[in-house]
Amino acid sequence: LAPVVAVVGRPNVGKSTLVNRIIGRREAVVEDVPGVTRDRVAYDATWSGRRFTVVDTGGWLPDSSGLAAAIAEQARLAVDLADVVMFVVDATVGATDVDEAVVEILRRSGKPVVLVANKVDGVGAESDAALLWSLGIGEPHPVSALHGRGSGDLLDAVLDAL
Ligand code: GDP
Ligand code: MG
Repeated sequence: LAPVVAVVGRPNVGKSTLVNRIIGRREAVVEDVPGVTRDRVAYDATWSGRRFTVVDTGGWLPDSSGLAAAIAEQARLAVDLADVVMFVVDATVGATDVDEAVVEILRRSGKPVVLVANKVDGVGAESDAALLWSLGIGEPHPVSALHGRGSGDLLDAVLDAL
């Protein structure tokens, strides 16, 4: 079985955009995984000749939901099934209370976490990404899921963590 990389984070930080970038599709193609939670979506991906399964957790919640408890529950479920967790934060917003709650769950899980500083669309936003060192879960990887910037280096880091 291919290792599982789960993508977690608050609504609207760019998780689904990142998943589409990783799998090389322009449109979200949603396929339910038989036998597991209905809204969980998994896709086959390859990087540097290595196969893995990437799981987009966004479908678990309405994007309008601001419920920290529900997001935390989503993170717990994702962590249980993952070999590596990609934790996505919107670098243009910075770390929120909800992000910090998710960090606690990730830390307790003991699973490897790759911190994604998304929406770093240009060099000018790289200082926003650096601020996310404050979350205390390691190096923020600056990416623009929308434009593809930094996604290769990010995937190298994910494979290193597997
Ligand atoms: P999700 O709720 O975490 O799955 O977030 P989505 O992937 O649905 O993205 C939410 C919004 O952020 C959409 O309008 C995206 O186009 C936008 N977005 C995602 N990634 C980026 C990025 O790297 N840069 C910018 N500027 N916008 C982005
Ligand atoms: Mg989504």
